[in-house]
Amino acid sequence: MQVPAPFEYERATSVEDAIRLLGQLGDEARLIAGGHSLLPMMKLRLATPEYLIDINDLHDELGYIRFTDDAVSIGAMTRHRELLDNDALFSTFPIFRDAEQVIADPVVRNRGTLGGSLCQADPSEDLSSVCNTLDASCVIRGPGGERVVTMDEFHRGPYETAVEQNEMLIEVRIPIRSGGSSAYEKVERRAGDWAICAAGAALWVADGTITDARVGLAAVGANITTIPAISTALRGLAPDEDAWRRAGEIAAEACNPATDARGSAEYKRHLADELTKRALRRSADRLGAGAVTTA
Ligand SMILES: Cc1cc2nc3c(=O)[nH]c(=O)nc-3n(C[C@H](O)[C@H](O)[C@H](O)COP(=O)(O)OP(=O)(O)OC[C@H]3O[C@@H](n4cnc5c(N)ncnc54)[C@H](O)[C@@H]3O)c2cc1C
Repeated sequence: MQVPAPFEYERATSVEDAIRLLGQLGDEARLIAGGHSLLPMMKLRLATPEYLIDINDLHDELGYIRFTDDAVSIGAMTRHRELLDNDALFSTFPIFRDAEQVIADPVVRNRGTLGGSLCQADPSEDLSSVCNTLDASCVIRGPGGERVVTMDEFHRGPYETAVEQNEMLIEVRIPIRSGGSSAYEKVERRAGDWAICAAGAALWVADGTITDARVGLAAVGANITTIPAISTALRGLAPDEDAWRRAGEIAAEACNPATDARGSAEYKRHLADELTKRALRRSADRLGAGAVTTA
């Protein structure tokens, strides 16, 4: 039986209280949200915090999906299930529902949070890929106030983020740009598993021409980032199979997969190519952008 090392338990009553507890308890304290990443690591003794600060009572404060004309703000305690079920989010950013349908299982989705997913910074994490693809920003709060960082700045490497020990992630902000759509494609070994490779795509088209495109891959490198070369290559092209083929080639070249139990590096490169094409194609189809689809 896997049993965590002993720890003390605190329950935060507000964001300010959580930040106060982090400062008071120091380096050996960790926040716990859904617990679906931290608890398995504690059971394996890969994480041995002396104090857990439970932030589940902060769901009223940080569990929200709010729209303005030009952005959507999602609180860090918003759970996978809430992201999956939100129709307004689906109609603005269908990539969220695409991804949530293939993240874990209902048990994990009922508790796991957006904040925990991004802060875990697992290179296979689907929501990190989604947020990168959508050019999200992260709002971090600490004793000195709030700061906002880009996704590139947020993820510093595998399991490492810009959130300091006495800070917490509060909110993710995603810009809404007209004329765009998005999609997510993932290949996994079995339903509910982590990705062998996954690709998120966001596409903007005007007058039959791609005005912008973003692709974010998961599980094929040490960190989840977008591929700027795809954006550069696709701007100005028609949204058709030639464009998707070029993007797939760039994705396969740009990624840096490792051979492991999920598959060979060669297979993962093939998936990066194929899933990039599929995600862009699906985004274009959603836009009704006249893309040529294949059987
Ligand atoms: C069986 C299983 C299958 C899974 N499959 C997938 C999958 O296919 N794809 C996928 O992407 N994920 C998958 N997951 C992970 C799942 O999505 C988790 O819910 C998610 O990774 C972490 O969210 P959490 O709220 O549970 O975080 P927790 O486990 O509570 O926390 C994770 C880390 O984030 C920190 N943290 C949490 N919230 C904050 C905050 N607001 N500010 C600062 N730090 C914070 C914690 O201190 C901890 O270090 C799976 C998990 C399980 C158990």
